[in-house]
Amino acid sequence: MYKLFLYVATFAAAIFVSQSMNFEFISSAVHAADKRENPLLAEWKGPYGGVPPFDRVKVEDFKPALEIAMAENLEEIRRIAENPDAPTFENTIVALERSGQKLNRVLTIFGIWGSNLSSPDFQKVEEEMSPKLAALSDQITQNSALFRRIEAVYESPALKKLSPEQQRLAWLHYTNFVRAGAKLGPEEKKRLSEINQKLAVLFTKFGQNLLAEEGGQYVVLESESDLAGLPQSLRDSYASAAAAKKLTNALGVVLNTRSSVEPFLTYSDRRDLRKKVFEMFINRGDNGNEYDNNAIITEILQLRYERARLLGYQTHAHWRLENAMAKTPERAMELMETVWPAAVARVREEVSDMQTLADKEGANIKIELWDYRYYAEKVRKAKYDLDQSEVKQYLQLDKIREAMFFVAGELFNFNFKQVSGIPVFHPDVTVWEVTDKTTGRHIGLWYFDPYAREGKSSGAWMNAYREQQRMNGEVTTIVSNNSNFIKGKEGEPVLISWDDATTMFHEFGHALHGLSSNVTYPSLSGTNVARDYVEFPSQLLEHWLSTPEVLQRFAVHYKTGKPIPQSLVDKIKRAANFNQGFATTEYLASALVDMKLHLAGGQKIDPDKFERETLAALGMPGEIVMRHRTPQFGHVFSGDGYSAGYYSYLWSDVITADAFEAFLEGKGPYDKDVAARLVKNIFSVGNTIDPAEAYRRFRGRDPRVEALMKKRGFPIPSKSK
Ligand SMILES: [Zn+2]
Repeated sequence: MYKLFLYVATFAAAIFVSQSMNFEFISSAVHAADKRENPLLAEWKGPYGGVPPFDRVKVEDFKPALEIAMAENLEEIRRIAENPDAPTFENTIVALERSGQKLNRVLTIFGIWGSNLSSPDFQKVEEEMSPKLAALSDQITQNSALFRRIEAVYESPALKKLSPEQQRLAWLHYTNFVRAGAKLGPEEKKRLSEINQKLAVLFTKFGQNLLAEEGGQYVVLESESDLAGLPQSLRDSYASAAAAKKLTNALGVVLNTRSSVEPFLTYSDRRDLRKKVFEMFINRGDNGNEYDNNAIITEILQLRYERARLLGYQTHAHWRLENAMAKTPERAMELMETVWPAAVARVREEVSDMQTLADKEGANIKIELWDYRYYAEKVRKAKYDLDQSEVKQYLQLDKIREAMFFVAGELFNFNFKQVSGIPVFHPDVTVWEVTDKTTGRHIGLWYFDPYAREGKSSGAWMNAYREQQRMNGEVTTIVSNNSNFIKGKEGEPVLISWDDATTMFHEFGHALHGLSSNVTYPSLSGTNVARDYVEFPSQLLEHWLSTPEVLQRFAVHYKTGKPIPQSLVDKIKRAANFNQGFATTEYLASALVDMKLHLAGGQKIDPDKFERETLAALGMPGEIVMRHRTPQFGHVFSGDGYSAGYYSYLWSDVITADAFEAFLEGKGPYDKDVAARLVKNIFSVGNTIDPAEAYRRFRGRDPRVEALMKKRGFPIPSKSK
């Protein structure tokens, strides 16, 4: 996953505000300024062109800092809009790029707090400020004088004389303003802004409800028999989770997060507890309590539909996909529907293998939802003699990090060196300087925050703290990777699963995308690309985990230090497509429901009913649940980010699989020429060129779906995308 910080993401999607709010910002801003210097408002100081002042920020700083920075941003916008000189690229488009830098700095740290250190105090600020931030971006995109200037620059013949990057920047601003309603009449603009502010409140509430359910619910493991089947490393991590919760009498606690639940479902011999843990997890946000997300979803969908209609689109999905690589919901649906039957057919085979095994064991059960991971693991052992917990002994968190650095060195010519003395928001976070291996040139900083904690969102993500640009001298990149590993015992290495190691490479791929950026303007920088393209660089990097160069050096046993035996590697390879039916189907079910929810029009949707009926119509296998059920689908409902966009992972994976074949057609995964072409055309260009064109420059042609089907072990369809 990749996090644009929240409000810049909504900026492009947004739209108007009452003038009185303007005064409110300024008056409270003045009061705040009386008291003490607010660290959020200062330029970032220190080495590397400045670093975020995490050591000095307090929750009470956010509101006054946001208010001051928002007021200043509006003033900057007013000056651009009311400039008496004729509009030019420089005094309008570049001026816009330069505006809002202070607000961006505040929002960056605001977003980091929300994802990593959310507390009741902070959540109050979030709730109060999110509609105001939505209103601010509307106030900017609905400024008619400003839009007339942007339009004049965009339509001026002089634009053709500028560089391709400058032309694309003008196009981007023009398009974003139009898509945000700049061409609407005053009444429509007013309604649009109301919608955006309501949505901002609902998104925040949705995310907070999810966090409350994940933090507040857990299953206590009380006796030795509750631990049956769990490997020692897992027992240790559940024990430390219990200690963190101060449950002194418990042997362990399964938290209501993916990283805690999935291993339990894989290893626990206790079918009753598996069912209990599974039901806790899949009912997040759907418990009919104060944290229930269903009514919020209904309202979000209605507001999104109304907004799309106001803007002149058939549905929210049509509006969202217009500036994606797929362009239309129909093209995204076509791809999903090409893959779906193959995935479901594979699930039938997987279930049949599992049922046979369960019958042979005399389990006397029918495979149910809470059995899939458990029996899949048994089949994996029986069929491929591959034991995940054996693999895990060769996957140490620190070594996998070193492996990522090795790959970045080989493909990107980057060197990573840990630096000290840089402020962090938690002692677990480490900071690394990235330099060019040959010239020693400073490239950027990479912050790494691997461990779970209370108040941190579940899952893993990349975040851009500062984007590369060179409008006035080079500004270097600061990025982070965050995940939710559970700390083991003091002094012992943290062992992670193959899937988790893959996810680390994935997020690191986003980080490298940010770090490789080589553009002039921040709006076009790094990972600021189409949603269905942004997962391509990250998914591509996953492929390097299984290269012999990585496994032999870095997949070493945590006790003996011996590299992973070739026989085990061979087993991993043979089992590579194992359970792809499950993985693809649980993902596609979410992606299809997301798209169908946003194509459903203006009807009042009951999310549970819609989900049930849609899945039934699709022929969803009864043994699998969606990867993200609707009431916990944060990608789609805690922001506009991946709404009608969860298909993006599959879309990007088509490109990914096709791109990796370019290496295989060359000298292999470490082919320097292909890597150089990849960096030049894909990783370094940000959004300065159309992604389809960028890909053609790398590959010489458009991506084809065949490589994806092959990668997942599915038959290649006769009719290809
Ligand atoms: Zn991602």
